[in-house]
Amino acid sequence: MRRLRKILPRTLQARLTVAFVAVIALLLGLVSVLVLNRLDDYFSRQQETDLGERQKTVIALLHQITDREAAGQPVVDADGTTNPRVIAALNDEDLRNLIADRLSQADVLVAYGVTVTNGEQTRFVPSPNGQVLLKRLAPPARGQTREPTAVTDFFAGGQVGQRYTVQVTLADPYTYRATAIANVTGLLLAIGLFVLGVAVVVSAALARRFTNPIRQLEDASRALAEGDLTRRVPAAQLRSGSSELGALAVQFNAMADRLEESVELSRRDRDRSRDFLADVSHELRTPLAALRTFNQLLMESAGDDPEARAEFLESSASQIERLDWLAQNLLELSKLDSGLVLLDLRPDDLRAAVESAAQQHDALAKRRGVRIELDLPDAPTRIRHDPPRIGQVVANLVGNAVKFTPKGGAVHVSVAMEPDGARIDVTDTGVGIDAAELPHIFERFYRGSRANEARGAGSGLGLAIVRSIVDMHGGIVTVESGLDTGSRFTVRLPLDPRLVAGTPAAQRADVASAAEGSERIAAAVAPTSDASQDAQPNVTETSSSDSPQVNTASAP
Ligand code: ADP
Repeated sequence: MRRLRKILPRTLQARLTVAFVAVIALLLGLVSVLVLNRLDDYFSRQQETDLGERQKTVIALLHQITDREAAGQPVVDADGTTNPRVIAALNDEDLRNLIADRLSQADVLVAYGVTVTNGEQTRFVPSPNGQVLLKRLAPPARGQTREPTAVTDFFAGGQVGQRYTVQVTLADPYTYRATAIANVTGLLLAIGLFVLGVAVVVSAALARRFTNPIRQLEDASRALAEGDLTRRVPAAQLRSGSSELGALAVQFNAMADRLEESVELSRRDRDRSRDFLADVSHELRTPLAALRTFNQLLMESAGDDPEARAEFLESSASQIERLDWLAQNLLELSKLDSGLVLLDLRPDDLRAAVESAAQQHDALAKRRGVRIELDLPDAPTRIRHDPPRIGQVVANLVGNAVKFTPKGGAVHVSVAMEPDGARIDVTDTGVGIDAAELPHIFERFYRGSRANEARGAGSGLGLAIVRSIVDMHGGIVTVESGLDTGSRFTVRLPLDPRLVAGTPAAQRADVASAAEGSERIAAAVAPTSDASQDAQPNVTETSSSDSPQVNTASAP
């Protein structure tokens, strides 16, 4: 068994080929043996019949000759001696030629005698001088061979009182049987070899076809193991193989898809964390550097000048305030991102949260000469939400709107009920956002080019927090903006975040896909021409659905 295993080829394709060929060879062998066996039987029977016919002819002829030569005398006389005239006639060369060479094509043994009946048994008693052997002397015809077989028959003749019996045996005839069998065997061998050759080719092709999907699977899994996560089993192979292999390949592809997805997700997570850390350290370094400078100046010359001291201390206080604000926002965002924040969902009136959030900025707005207009519906807007968090969203949006709106401008805050939820709009008449920047404004630490013009510095975290909170509510936040015509931020919230499929999971996935989302936004916004940017405000939209972001540049 072990030796057989050593001889057998190792690949499945080769083994299948060998198995197919072996089965076909076995079948061919069996069929050949059966055919040859049947053929041999048939020829033997044919030969017997043929020999019997020849024997009848010989007997008829011998009958005539014996009667003619005896001419009324007994053929075998009372003491058992055969009439010499009869024997002499049979020894004639012409007669031998006729009977042995031409009629029977075999050795013919003629024996005269009498039949003795003893009770039930009848016995042929040959005459001592009554045996004549007529040997066949003619050479065999082409393809004829001698057959070691014989047929014997008797015939009786003579009148009553002169009865005699002749035994006629035809032996070792020449026939075509052996040649015919040899020819058929040769033919079968040739056909067998041809069929075997075809079988080898067909089996190899079939085995290759059967094993192709397995090879593809093997290639794909090797590539996957070596780190090529994009590798899949080609669709054509999925169809060509057997259904089980097809199903296996489909499962393999699905597994590879999931693997690629999760590796991609963790890669993006890693990249994001790295970027985040870099951004955080950058953001921290600016106020820290300023503080260090003020501190140094105060310790040196400026410490004695009360005016300069007061100015540096005031600047230091504002930098410390900024640091504190940054730390709070970072903490908030990281809690939101990590899923540590659980929403306290209540079916409250949305108007209350929006109103108090907008009022937070009243003092700032007054200082800047900007009007805040509240447009709330008369009827309560009841949806299930986390009021402090939604308040945070509105506060961030209104804060930005006030910050980016010049003196004399207005910020309009409205709430409306829609069939599938509620909608909050924060519209301003401020500086607007450049079309190229629009796709990025929800990214962390992103600050537009006009942000510096606005008084009061920001950190670029406000809108990232807005997006995270809206995502957690299963809602979407969109923005339309045109340069110098103002911006409108729209938040759409569902009636009940718990009914939005995959809300908590989607939240993370969506945050993770922020980078990808921005790319898509850029792609969507990019084609807008400069001329049309002024005429058509740009819209960017972010949602928490699994197919993350639908970003459009739309008409006003
Ligand atoms: P920041 O702290 O800089 O305001 P945000 O995340 O709140 O950070 O906003 C990101 C950027 O989006 C801002 O720097 C600004 O360029 C742009 N932006 C946000 N809101 C408005 C607005 N109402 N009008 C114009 N630009 C805005």
